[in-house]
Amino acid sequence: MAISPENRARAKELAKELAEIAGGRYRPDGIPKTFDELEIDAGFVADLITSMAINQSARDISEDEKCVRCPKCKAVPRKHTDDDDEPIVIQTTHGDVEWITESYFCRRCRRSFFPSAC
Ligand SMILES: [Zn+2]
Repeated sequence: MAISPENRARAKELAKELAEIAGGRYRPDGIPKTFDELEIDAGFVADLITSMAINQSARDISEDEKCVRCPKCKAVPRKHTDDDDEPIVIQTTHGDVEWITESYFCRRCRRSFFPSAC
């Protein structure tokens, strides 16, 4: 993935925010953190932000892009409600990422499916 100079500058600004969210350069007792501690703290916040970014990208799928037919029999499922949403946890290189995804139920196949997985 190529990153434009403009987006690299934005990432640099976000890195400053990330460092601040991760607690900064010093421990609560005023002693500077070791490089290992800085890495662990920044990694924790980076993983959290990565999870949030993946969630946001998953939500950005437009209605037109969604496959709202059963992937097996191609039947149109009943209308989706919020009660159909289910949490999904996937493993990423940054750890577990959980998000709520829309689930549909095909009465013909008697199975649930996720449009994002079609
Ligand atoms: Zn079906």
